[in-house]
Amino acid sequence: MCAPPPPPSKQALLFQCVGCGAFHLQRLGRAAATGGRVKYSAACGPPIHPECEHCGQRHQLGGPLWAEPLHDLDFVGRILDSVTAAPSRFRTSERIRGVLSVVTEELPDVPLYHTLDQLSSTIHCNTPSLLQLRSAILHAGFRVSLSHACKNAVKTDAPASVLWDIMRCWEKECPVKRERLSETSPAFRILSVEPRLQADFTIREDANPSSRQRGLKRFQANPEANWGPRPRARPGAQGVPTPPEERRRLRQNKRKDPGEDAAHRADRLKVFPCKRFKEGTCELGEHCCYSHGPPTPTSTAAAPQDPEGTPKQSPPRPASPAGPGGD
Ligand SMILES: [Zn+2]
Ligand SMILES: [Zn+2]
Repeated sequence: MCAPPPPPSKQALLFQCVGCGAFHLQRLGRAAATGGRVKYSAACGPPIHPECEHCGQRHQLGGPLWAEPLHDLDFVGRILDSVTAAPSRFRTSERIRGVLSVVTEELPDVPLYHTLDQLSSTIHCNTPSLLQLRSAILHAGFRVSLSHACKNAVKTDAPASVLWDIMRCWEKECPVKRERLSETSPAFRILSVEPRLQADFTIREDANPSSRQRGLKRFQANPEANWGPRPRARPGAQGVPTPPEERRRLRQNKRKDPGEDAAHRADRLKVFPCKRFKEGTCELGEHCCYSHGPPTPTSTAAAPQDPEGTPKQSPPRPASPAGPGGD
C-alpha cells in the first residue's frame, strides 16, 4: 500500500488569457513525501507559454486564490436535510434549498468556471443552449457542472483545447463570416484551426442537473430594477437622493459635445454681446469671443456670466443699472 501523495499548496496563481479567457492555475508550492517525511519546496512554472496556445494573446496574472474544494459537502448536506425537514422555519427556505442543491452538484475539484456567453462571444458565434454545450462536454468524456455563483457557468475538467474544439464544431453549424474578423483577433486564430474532436450536441439525459429539473429557486433575481448599492453620499447633497432612473432622465443631453471645434464655438458665442465691452473694460479687441458690435434684435441674450475657456479679465462686479440697449 502506498500513501496518497501529499497535497500541494492550497493556493494558486491564475494565468488568464486576455483574448479567449482560457485559464491555468499555478500552485504556489509543492510537496513531496520522502521516507515518511513531507518536504515542501517552491513550485516550478509558469505553466504556460507567454502567448496563449489557442488565440495568441498574452496572459493576465491573478491571485493567489483558493484552489481546493470550496464547500464542506457534509455540512451543506446537513443544512439541506434540516431545511427540507422544516421548510417553514426560514422565510428563505426555498432559496437555501436551491443554492445548496447547486452547491452539491458542483464539481468539487474545479475551482473556476467558463461562461456560456464568454465562449460564444469570443468567437462571435451564436450561443448553444446550456444543455447542448453540457451534452457535448459529457459526450467528449469529461465532467461538467454549474456553479452556484453564476447562471451561465460551465465548470468542467475538460481543458480549454477541448472546449474550443467543441465551439469550433458548433460554429460549423452556423458559420461566422471570416471576412469580418481581424486576422489577429482571438476569433480568427481559434477558428482557423480544425477541431480534433467531433463534438456531439445530442442532448443527454444527465446533462440537465437535477436542481434544474426540479425547478428549484437557484439564482435569485433582483427584486426590482436598479436594485443594489447606491452611489456614496456626497457632502452638500440634500434630502433624499434622486433615484438613478430619474437622474439619468435629468442628465440626458446635458453632456458637453466633445466634437465642437473652435470655429464652431466662436460662431456660437459671437451672437452674445460682450458685457465688458459695453462697460468699456474689454481689452481683447477683435480677439474677444463675444460681439463688440451694436446689439442686434436677435442677440439680446446676455453673455454667460463666466464662460468657460475665456480668460478672466476682471473680478465680477455687481450688475450695473441697465443702460441703453440693456434688458
Ligand atoms: Zn487565448
Ligand atoms: Zn469683449
